[in-house]
Formats: sequence, structure tokens, C-alpha cells
Amino acid sequence: MHIPYERYFDLRAIPKGGMALDSYEYLSQVTASAVESSPIWDAHTHLGTDTDGKTLTAEALLADLARFDVAGAVVFPFNDPDQGEDFGVPNQRIWDACLPYSDRLVPFMRLNPHGPWEAEYERCLARGHRGVKLHPRAQEFDIAAGVVRGIYKRAADDGLPVLVHTGYGMPAISQDVAAVAEAYPELKLILGHASFIDMPRALSVLKPYPNVYFETSVVRMYDLFQVLREVDPGRVMYGSDKPYSSSTVSLQAMGIMASLAGVAPERLPDLFGGNLLRVLGVTSKVAA
Ligand SMILES: [Zn+2]
Repeated sequence: MHIPYERYFDLRAIPKGGMALDSYEYLSQVTASAVESSPIWDAHTHLGTDTDGKTLTAEALLADLARFDVAGAVVFPFNDPDQGEDFGVPNQRIWDACLPYSDRLVPFMRLNPHGPWEAEYERCLARGHRGVKLHPRAQEFDIAAGVVRGIYKRAADDGLPVLVHTGYGMPAISQDVAAVAEAYPELKLILGHASFIDMPRALSVLKPYPNVYFETSVVRMYDLFQVLREVDPGRVMYGSDKPYSSSTVSLQAMGIMASLAGVAPERLPDLFGGNLLRVLGVTSKVAA
């Protein structure tokens, strides 16, 4: 029997003397240098303005990404005061803001299933938006409701991933997510905040669905540990939910928890960006 002694003596998460916890040096140590040899991509950031008063510009986002050498990020609108019926205004603003940085910022369209979403979907698809963001609480729908299924169908047909909020303000969602994953096996469904409002049930209920991904932004520490322990690393994606969190906090949490949960170092490039790039259809040059 092989006893993995090396794990018990793995001190990667303990900073060397004098090493700052919020330094790139520490992130590199805790990830066994994975972040130096393969690109980090952030699956969850917002640009513009939220009804709660939060704002973020492309330049501020890029400055935050630069601190930890993050290669790029998926961006989408907040619950914007100018969203109207269809998010047409913030979707256009996000597109314009990303355009000068098109190799680093990947725009997703935000849609309102209760509004005239078809026309907005077509506009964004033609423009080049690369995915869809849905927020069941803010736009008041259930994940498996009839009103939103047309969006899943279109996105699956067009190969666009859908990132759906599964965080605060939601009821138990595992069965609904399973129903959607089952109805649209071609759909790449990313659970924003990794379904933490329905832990640990979500992990067992959603295990059979390889098209469901767990995005880790603002997930509580022990829930994150559980995700990293139980979910195949090929289905976990790093995200930060900026500006509600930062690269510093999110990368550190992912690095430390992946180390403690025993994720093999060679799987870390997937967690920190490889899985997202694959879902986006980008063939990444991840170093061996
Ligand atoms: Zn968010």
C-alpha cells in the first residue's frame, strides 16, 4: 500500500520567513510554481456600475490583474442601473471597454429572461460576446424555469458557456442545476460561486454531469476545501468576482486550499485558467 507521506510533509502553504502572504512569491510557492509556467485566467469579474453603488473600470481591473500576472478575465455587467429591459446598454459598454484589450478581457453578455432577450442575444453574438451571464435572484427566475430554457438552448447550440450565479440570495439549487445539465448535455454550465449556498449536497448531486463547472469566487474557505477535495480538478475554475473581492484574496484562497486538499500540482494549471480557456474554445499554450 502506498502511503502518501509526502502530503503530510508538504509545507507549501507555510510561507518562508519574511515572505508576505499577499506577494506573488508566496502564490508561486503555494502553487508549486504552477502560476509561473501557465497562464492564470479569472472566470468572474464585473465592469461598469451596480445598483448597490459598486463600480469598476477596465483600467482598474487590469491593474488588479497585473499585480499577480493574471493573463486575463471574463467580464460582464453588474446589476446595472441602466440595464433597461434587456441589458442592451451595459452589454454595449462592456464590449466597448474590452475592445482595446481584446486579448485579455473576454466579454460575456448579461441577459434578462423576462425581457426581450432574443434580440439582445443576437446582437451580442454577432458582436462577438463569448458567453452568457445569468443572475436568478437579481432577474427573479428559477434556474430550471421555462422562461430561461430558451437561453440555455441557444447557448448550447452556439457553443457559448453560461455562467449562472449560485451564491447568496438563492434557495437550494442542486436539483434545478441537474435538470438543466441533463436537458442540455452540450451546454457548458458554469456555477458562479460554486453552488456554495447548497453545500455539500451540490457536490454529490452534480457529480454525474461533466458539463457543470464550479467557479470559485467568494466561496467560503471550508466549502472551497470541499470543492477541491471532491470535484475533479478538470471541472473547477478560478474566479474572483471583482470588485467584490480581489486577485490577492482569491488567488491566495485557491492556492492554499488546493494545497491542503491535496490537488496534484500538475492539475493546478487547469484550475487557475486551463479549464476556462478550454470552455471558451481557446487552445491554450499551457506549459508542460
Ligand atoms: Zn459576480
